[in-house]
Amino acid sequence: MPVRKFRCIVCEQLEEQCTCQRYCAFCYSDYRVRLCEDGQYYCADCREACDYKTGDRT
Ligand SMILES: [Zn+2]
Ligand SMILES: [Zn+2]
Repeated sequence: MPVRKFRCIVCEQLEEQCTCQRYCAFCYSDYRVRLCEDGQYYCADCREACDYKTGDRT
């Protein structure tokens, strides 16, 4: 799988360049939040529960 790059919907930057305060869009946790394909950040638990994908993981 090629690495896909998602952009933050707030600042439209890539995850590495995004300086927004990062927290899960569902539960507002900041634990292991990652940018997902819809451009919002989700924590590890919510990503697993909702099957959201980060850019570098399938
Ligand atoms: Zn951002
Ligand atoms: Zn969450």
